[in-house]
Amino acid sequence: MKIRLDQVVKTFDTFRAVHGVSLEVASGELVALLGPSGSGKTTILRMIAGLEFADGGAIYFGDQDATAIPVRERGVGFVFQHYALFPHMTVGENIAFGMKVSKVKRSKSEIAARVDELLKLVRLEGLGNRFPSQISGGQRQRVALARALAVDPKVLLLDEPFGALDAAVRRDLRVWLREIQEQLGITTLFVTHDQEEALDLADRVVILSEGKIVQEGTPEEVTRRPNSAFVTRFLGDTN
Ligand code: ADP
Repeated sequence: MKIRLDQVVKTFDTFRAVHGVSLEVASGELVALLGPSGSGKTTILRMIAGLEFADGGAIYFGDQDATAIPVRERGVGFVFQHYALFPHMTVGENIAFGMKVSKVKRSKSEIAARVDELLKLVRLEGLGNRFPSQISGGQRQRVALARALAVDPKVLLLDEPFGALDAAVRRDLRVWLREIQEQLGITTLFVTHDQEEALDLADRVVILSEGKIVQEGTPEEVTRRPNSAFVTRFLGDTN
């Protein structure tokens, strides 16, 4: 599913967090939204997911205006910052959650079979009965991804998915996320303030500053030809 933003604007009271952002994520592509804290990255993801309304411009899923698609029918999987797992539910129950509240009705045995399949996909076989407090940070991150994938989303949105993890775990998870993303061919937009992560993982990088796109291109293009003093400074230690 292709996603397109056309001159999207978002204002909170009098503060303009997103200033006319236009971008496209092709079907099956993995795009990183890279920028410092407060540059509008999370707000853009939340508007695509339908968790916030844009107050200007338009968002399209394929050729359809997103405002015409009810939030639960957008086919979006969202991995929130800090995972946002339900602490009182087991790993399996967390993964099953989206299927239970989905409009697509599934039987208990169908849900159980899908949870097993997802535990295998994210390499957490045997951990379905643990609680989030009983697994590591990297494992929690994988539960969050399994939960997002449970409803077969057409679009995957990840907000600082590896933010809280140490460098070695982050690197492993990056390789692993890329493998899964390619295997499922799922259109993916992920948010990060970590340029190494964006340049390493993404097909294309979109750099934001103060709610505006300041550059976009392949990782090679944005590092070889930074188009502004800001981008040079922001990507400074990669060259
Ligand atoms: P990023 O993800 O790049 O850190 P955000 O999209 O979270 O940036 O936020 C962009 C700006 O919008 C920030 O200045 C933030 O304080 C502001 N903002 C985000 N959400 C709200 C909100 N619900 N109410 C008021 N201001 C908000």
